[in-house]
Amino acid sequence: MDAGPDAFLARVPWATDLCRRLGLGDELVSPARGRAFVWSRGRLRPLPEDLVLGVPTALWPLARSGIVPIPGLVRAGLDLVLPADAPGGDEAIGSLVTRRLGRTVSERLVDPLLGGIYAGDADRLSASMAAPQLVAVARRHRSLILGLRAHRREHPPDPTQPVFHTLPAGLGRLVDRLAAAVEGVDLRLGTRVEAVASDGPGCRLTLDGQAPLGADAVVLATPAHVSSRLLAGAAPAAAGGLAGIEHASVVLVTLAIDAGALPGPLDGSGYLVPRGEGLLHTACSWASSKWAHLAEPGRVLLRVSAGRLGDDRPLRLDEDELLDRLLGELRLVMGLSGEPSAVRVNRWVDAFPQYPPGHLDRVAGIEARVREAIPGVELAGAAYRGIGVPACIRQGEEAAARVLARLEPAPAR
Ligand SMILES: Cc1cc2nc3c(=O)[nH]c(=O)nc-3n(C[C@H](O)[C@H](O)[C@H](O)COP(=O)(O)OP(=O)(O)OC[C@H]3O[C@@H](n4cnc5c(N)ncnc54)[C@H](O)[C@@H]3O)c2cc1C
Repeated sequence: MDAGPDAFLARVPWATDLCRRLGLGDELVSPARGRAFVWSRGRLRPLPEDLVLGVPTALWPLARSGIVPIPGLVRAGLDLVLPADAPGGDEAIGSLVTRRLGRTVSERLVDPLLGGIYAGDADRLSASMAAPQLVAVARRHRSLILGLRAHRREHPPDPTQPVFHTLPAGLGRLVDRLAAAVEGVDLRLGTRVEAVASDGPGCRLTLDGQAPLGADAVVLATPAHVSSRLLAGAAPAAAGGLAGIEHASVVLVTLAIDAGALPGPLDGSGYLVPRGEGLLHTACSWASSKWAHLAEPGRVLLRVSAGRLGDDRPLRLDEDELLDRLLGELRLVMGLSGEPSAVRVNRWVDAFPQYPPGHLDRVAGIEARVREAIPGVELAGAAYRGIGVPACIRQGEEAAARVLARLEPAPAR
């Protein structure tokens, strides 16, 4: 079972295309069940089906779901009559949704759904990065609900197209296949780069335990906090900008449990926990009902996430205490009884870069400082222009294309 990302968006092309180019197209699968829930007001409640990026496009399905209490529903309805109030410029997604539909919708739907992708906080997450479609609708229409409804009519979702793909052998297969496919390349896996410096028109890499390496260009696809250290000598201003990109940490606990330990079969892909519910875990993916390849009679597999921006409690707990707390919460939410038959704990420290309002401008500034100080270096990865696996693949391809465009006229070194 994957210990990190376990799926990627299928509605953007880059990851699916790369799988196909590597001959993995036939192995791609989609979730068996899509129905997701929210733990809200003491119960697991199904997410309304008409949500667009966490925002409801009608009030009745939201009322029926019970996720939002009546005062919150009334406040959400005000969106239909409130005057236009778009502030212009980049704002937090939490602020956009709050000013139109109120705090409760933002806290109980948008923060867990959109903020959750970043292990972040909707009040500190750039709307134009996390939900550009929502921003476009909010600028064109006075009411977000009516605007999203119109957007849906113009761009109806295609129910035959999957939202997510994965590889049953694990997403590591994509990396392994890619590594095997790059023939004629001096590929040094497991080699740590310690510094990147300018060297004439190119660069010089200091490696851990190996001779330094000259390069015409470098695509720096390490996490931003690592890239910051690598560039500290050659591009201190850029390194400072990179160090300023905040990251959140998450603990992912994978559990195998006996199906008899649950009150009934799990019909759905899992649930999210809004911040205000006061639980340690933020989400639980019902992996063995979400993915057919993980289903086995009598056994249930769960992926429980804990920790997010501003909440490092799970990271500080030792394994026994963490497990104790999480099992207690699963008893409350899912009616779990007994103990798991297998447990795996993965701590993802500083793994989720944050995109506060103004993030793209900040990234453009960092890139300009890198270009100025050490022109052979390109940046790519989750900290810059998209956090998901497809967006990281796109950024890697774009960085490689920029390098090639720059090097093509010159002879190889
Ligand atoms: C638990 C978890 C679940 C997630 N779930 C999903 C999901 O379901 N779908 C989705 O699309 N996204 C998901 N994400 C987000 C996504 O996986 C990441 O944002 C993305 O993989 C980051 O890719 P990257 O190439 O920027 O960085 P990374 O994948 O972190 O790659 C950085 C690389 O740099 C290497 N490195 C570090 N230091 C050095 C050094 N000094 N020298 C040389 N190499 C170095 C590392 O070994 C690593 O290989 C998830 C993330 C986590 C942590």
